Amino acid sequence: MLFILCSGAIAQQSESEKPYSIVIKGGHVIDPKNNLDAVMDIAIKDGKIAAIAKTIDGTQGAQLVNAKGMYITPGLIDLHVHFFWGQDGSGYMNARAGLPADGFTFPAGVTTVVDAGSPGWKSFELYKKQTIDQSQTRVLAMLNIVSEGMDSRNESDIEHMDPKSTAEMAKKYPEHIVGVKLAHFSGRGPLAHSWIPTDLALEAGKLANIPIMVDFGSATPYLPLDSLFNVKFRPGDMYTHAFGGNPEVGLTSQSGRESIVDVSTKKVKEYAVRAQKRGVIFDVGFGGSSFLFSQGIPAIKSGFYPNSISTDLHTGSMNNAMKNMPNIMSLFMAMGMPFKEVIKASTWNPAQQIKRPELGNLSIGSEADVAIFTLRKGKFGYYARDGKISGKDRLETEMTIRAGKIVYNLNAIAEPNIIQAPPRPRPANTPSNP
Ligand SMILES: [Zn+2]
Repeated sequence: MLFILCSGAIAQQSESEKPYSIVIKGGHVIDPKNNLDAVMDIAIKDGKIAAIAKTIDGTQGAQLVNAKGMYITPGLIDLHVHFFWGQDGSGYMNARAGLPADGFTFPAGVTTVVDAGSPGWKSFELYKKQTIDQSQTRVLAMLNIVSEGMDSRNESDIEHMDPKSTAEMAKKYPEHIVGVKLAHFSGRGPLAHSWIPTDLALEAGKLANIPIMVDFGSATPYLPLDSLFNVKFRPGDMYTHAFGGNPEVGLTSQSGRESIVDVSTKKVKEYAVRAQKRGVIFDVGFGGSSFLFSQGIPAIKSGFYPNSISTDLHTGSMNNAMKNMPNIMSLFMAMGMPFKEVIKASTWNPAQQIKRPELGNLSIGSEADVAIFTLRKGKFGYYARDGKISGKDRLETEMTIRAGKIVYNLNAIAEPNIIQAPPRPRPANTPSNP
């Protein structure tokens, strides 16, 4: 009789009286910042990580997630996306080559993205209204040094590059703006071989005290990467499309963009190894055609790993060889990059690169951005512009939790299974994206 009364009382306990909102049980936690690599339970409360321990009582959570046999990591950070979707612009600026965030992040285990230069200082406030304020995903941005942003009409025009206004906008919104981007510059005439765009981006980065990311365009004769990495770049500045470029440059061609692996010797060039040692960041930015196996395989085999794995997600890459973060993370594993290094390059490394050490980890008290994956075993294929390889592993996203809320759940692994009310579009000027 007493037992029945007690269990009845427990059953009536409301969710809010439970100590935790979610308890995740039985998953293998990999948290590079905290050196965690073991089966552990995680408890979430008030949108934050409340506890991580060998055992947490599952009845203490309003929802219980069964992650047995799965891997749990910090929510992924994708350092290179293009999310300035819209109708009225051009290229990747307020145009249809951009994507809306949440549909392309949560199914991939991504909770934070950095838009790599779609807006410039003149278009950032529109970007904030259209993209940042309308997304559950944490959207951060690097401002394009071109004032309008990644507008294909102005990218090679230095008259449109304004370091002072760029830095001022970055300082106005430090919670959203984490860097400056130079992309695609390809000058003509006297500007065919010019460091001016790089210098202007660096000037903005120095004025706002934030890193720059460079997507080198092409030049005639080519601009040596040794100079970019070891003369121009400060430690912390980022080179994206690190495994792309034109491998023939420097061998048979003198114009275009250099590659970091010498394809005749299959070795990473000495200056790139030296640059990474002194703190220059090598970012993947896979994109539609910005990754080559002729670059990636020799680099990974020699232990030269990208600091950050990122997608360069846009309409041209989303259904192509790239697809999403778990696909290219699996591709890097297929080339021989260790699993833990792949996770680190997709969580803790990018958090540090954008100077947001509160992100990309599962420390107690940090915002509960969590990804849960199954590491499927079998024979899988991965391809790029210059070939294909097979791999034994494929990461599949099981669940994504953003700020303590389940925002993606592939196989109904939460009990009870709560269907979230769809987020309502917010009116303009009501920011929700901390
Ligand atoms: Zn890009």
